[in-house]
Amino acid sequence: MDKILEERKQSIVLKNELGCSGSGINCDSDSVSGAISQRACVYCGARVVLNPITDAFHIVHGPIGCASYTWDIRGSLTSDDDVFRTSFSTDLREKDVIFGGEKKLEAAIEEIANKYHPKLIFVYATCIVGVIGDDVEAICKKMSDKYNMHVIAVKSPGFSGNKATGYRMACDAIMQVISQYKDQPKVNGINILGDFNLAGEMWIIKSYMEKIGINVLSTFTGDSNFESMKKASSATLNIVQCAGSSTYLANRMQEEMGIPFIKVSFFGVEDTTASLIKVAEALGDNEAREKAINFCKKESDKIEGFINQYKKNLTGKKAAIYVGGGFKAISLIRQFKALGIETAVVGTQTGKKDEYEVIESIVEKDTVILDDANPAELEKYMKEKNVDILVGGVKERPLAYKLGIAFCDHNHERKHPLAGFDGVVNFVTEINGSINHPVWKYTRGKGACHYE
Ligand code: SF4
Repeated sequence: MDKILEERKQSIVLKNELGCSGSGINCDSDSVSGAISQRACVYCGARVVLNPITDAFHIVHGPIGCASYTWDIRGSLTSDDDVFRTSFSTDLREKDVIFGGEKKLEAAIEEIANKYHPKLIFVYATCIVGVIGDDVEAICKKMSDKYNMHVIAVKSPGFSGNKATGYRMACDAIMQVISQYKDQPKVNGINILGDFNLAGEMWIIKSYMEKIGINVLSTFTGDSNFESMKKASSATLNIVQCAGSSTYLANRMQEEMGIPFIKVSFFGVEDTTASLIKVAEALGDNEAREKAINFCKKESDKIEGFINQYKKNLTGKKAAIYVGGGFKAISLIRQFKALGIETAVVGTQTGKKDEYEVIESIVEKDTVILDDANPAELEKYMKEKNVDILVGGVKERPLAYKLGIAFCDHNHERKHPLAGFDGVVNFVTEINGSINHPVWKYTRGKGACHYE
């Protein structure tokens, strides 16, 4: 592990015959200062979770730069309202830093209240607000009372933790809204947590639930809105797709509303099938279980020939995975395995100990596993392992292309869904098109930049 910062060595392990090197991976902790983490800040973590609520207004209380993290770079689809696609900022400047930004925030909320009569506003406190000490909560409360609407303070100064802290702040904000409607009778139905409908995945998952006869009450937060959020407390089960962002919310809903939860993943044939059956079993619904088994068999039979056709081109290739949460990484390793691709490097931004244990148990010997990586580390291990493709998000794309290797976006920039059986077809098509593109012949040729 030469060229790796001393403080980072605990967060990188190599799988050997006995399991992983060292005393297990260090994860779920703050980034090492100066290590140039690939993680986003606390505010960005909060925004990721809350932004897809389609009829909510999002006011970024801070300098205009923070507001650049908008729908445009974190798209999610809507079937109704689209107010969430517009960002609002208090545009704090030097004068506000000296004299305080509270008046500006109050004026911004008043303007939105008078012009749009919203039901729900989120106000994000950014780094500078944490420094100057504006009382965002007090202003939100005052405005909620004055206009009889929900104005929720999201305590998310970028420096106040890591991206996972932002997830928790967003989940707390959601709880502030839904716990006001928690005394409702239970009905037979589920909430879907941790899918953000980036390219229509929530619609795919909902359609599968409909096919096996399971009622969906609320979704957090892909394609959700204020009215549907109000129904959440009456659900009998929560299913959690993105464990990193939404397990905290599921835990709070379990403790405070008595709704149990299970973790699911709808990436890949294996995980989609297992998850649909698991949901039916958790509800004790035998009819739904039978329907899930039959539906998944029919769908996987339909795409089996397609997968086998491409598998020939992909067997023997090597992949690196660097994604947000551990559950997605696990699904991707399984998907690659089904295609004959070995995962040689795998890491996450916010994976938990138990997720890393699963990762360790399903990867091959000599796989590098790393938490909260930085570009230098990803580059080093991708070169060492001579990988053919990197799967990641917007911040990893340039790294792959600079190294001259293929890339697959499994995050916010993509425009096609990767969930469910439809998603498998899209995933295989993209991986094949990217890995086997003729351009790599040139980047890997003499004098090209690949791995030099
Ligand atoms: S780190 Fe601070 S200044 Fe930068 S985007 Fe996040 S909240 Fe804004």
